[in-house]
Amino acid sequence: MELKQVAVLGGGPGGLFAARLLKLHQPGCRVVVYERSEPERTFGFGVGLQTATQHNLRRADPELLDAILARALPHEMSMSIGDETVAMPIRDLIAIGRGTLLEVLRDQAVRAGVELRYGQQVSAGDVLADLVIAADGVNSATRESRADQFGATIDWHNSLYLWCGADFALHRALFRPETTEHGAFVAHAYPYAPDRSTFLIETDAETWSRAGFDRSGEQVVSGGNDEVALDYLSQTFAGTLRGRRLIGNQTRWLRFRTVRCERWHAGNVVLLGDAAATAHYSIGSGTKLAMETAIALVAALDDADDLATALSSFDAARRPAVEHLQAVATRSMLWWDDFPNRLHLPLEQLLLGYMTRAGKVSLDGFADTAPAVLRRGLAQYAGVAESEVPSANLTDWVLSRPLFSGARSWPTRTVQAGALAGAGLAVVDATRSWEEALSAFEASEKKRWEGDLVGARISSDHRALAAAALASGRVDLIEIDE
Ligand SMILES: Cc1cc2nc3c(=O)[nH]c(=O)nc-3n(C[C@H](O)[C@H](O)[C@H](O)COP(=O)(O)OP(=O)(O)OC[C@H]3O[C@@H](n4cnc5c(N)ncnc54)[C@H](O)[C@@H]3O)c2cc1C
Repeated sequence: MELKQVAVLGGGPGGLFAARLLKLHQPGCRVVVYERSEPERTFGFGVGLQTATQHNLRRADPELLDAILARALPHEMSMSIGDETVAMPIRDLIAIGRGTLLEVLRDQAVRAGVELRYGQQVSAGDVLADLVIAADGVNSATRESRADQFGATIDWHNSLYLWCGADFALHRALFRPETTEHGAFVAHAYPYAPDRSTFLIETDAETWSRAGFDRSGEQVVSGGNDEVALDYLSQTFAGTLRGRRLIGNQTRWLRFRTVRCERWHAGNVVLLGDAAATAHYSIGSGTKLAMETAIALVAALDDADDLATALSSFDAARRPAVEHLQAVATRSMLWWDDFPNRLHLPLEQLLLGYMTRAGKVSLDGFADTAPAVLRRGLAQYAGVAESEVPSANLTDWVLSRPLFSGARSWPTRTVQAGALAGAGLAVVDATRSWEEALSAFEASEKKRWEGDLVGARISSDHRALAAAALASGRVDLIEIDE
């Protein structure tokens, strides 16, 4: 279908990219982006863009991806506990400053012929257009004003995060916990420019209030930083920060919100990006979601004969991928909530748990990325020398290891059907969907922390998930429902 006039509310990554792509596909259409802030003013620090996102951008808009890559910084990953650090190469992982990404997107949008109006706060009812794309962020006034039409729900996460930065580039991305007199803080940090790193610091609600951040947050003026938190955490992470102070950019403690909508369109208005759906930052996918959804929207507009059909088919086609990603992100978020409880694990085994935490990466998938780390982690799980860990059929190998627990022992981790019932163990049911299976392993891991031995009943298509759960210390024994 051909559109004559499109208004985009919001000049974030979602809005700017949707505007550019639409203009490239429909050169005769007038596309105007309204952004309430000034161009150089934005929140946050660097954002990561994963390999799969880069592939999708390459297919949809190679010129844009090249412009992003020219300004982005590649990095490896690592985890560090106490004095020990383990590095993990992950192919093509890059990060870019949010401000730089927006600069690139602005430039590319203008090149395509998009009109940009900065300093203009606009609502969907204010603009005359065939289509209004509301990419107005997680606080979307468009979504709120028509909440019943969109069927919007918001889940508030209990833990808190502080998005701050440092004025030097870390050697590689780093996960680092630090335990203070108030409790644990965990930094997810990564370099995104030659002189900049993102520091995303998380804590639980109890630690946060014990440290007095409920009170310090109340003193922060609009657009300012929680300087008390920045000072305290600069001390806490002094080693990682090489003695420098954390820097803020509208930085205050926040709770993550998972936004879901039953419908993304109402009349000629369509929600896009964080306005429509958010995914926890620990899988680094919010920008990805917004930009990939823009690709799907423009494709649906190309394919359909009228707007109503285009928006319905966009919603139907894109929804499964978005909901799956949100489910993965939720699993990841819950794994990070419990992270301080796992610090007794050897570092490679902990990394194995990190990589497989959300059920997206199997042990074999991890073997492709970082075989040396995986081999050591599996040796730690099985209590054997690294040379005894095979290089293939990892799932079978993990499931067939023996278990010794006090006076009790099992020749393999996989027991016969029905055997768990009489074994006097705590048992969880992991027989249903992968999401429920991951929930069951999460419950079993909590029981293990209380000292229980735990068995899980699984269906045969969850063998790989079960092997990852065994190897990362989430469960002890497996019974397979054939
Ligand atoms: C701590 C943290 C870390 C993150 N790290 C990553 C990461 O590593 N990788 C990743 O992919 N994503 C990451 N994200 C997510 C990412 O920042 C967002 O998902 C992404 O910015 C969403 O883009 P958007 O265009 O939908 O919304 P936004 O970027 O929020 O843009 C919305 C824009 O709309 C404007 N606006 C709002 N209302 C109006 C109005 N009425 N009129 C005009 N303009 C308006 C706002 O000023 C804003 O500029 C992270 C998020 C957080 C919180």
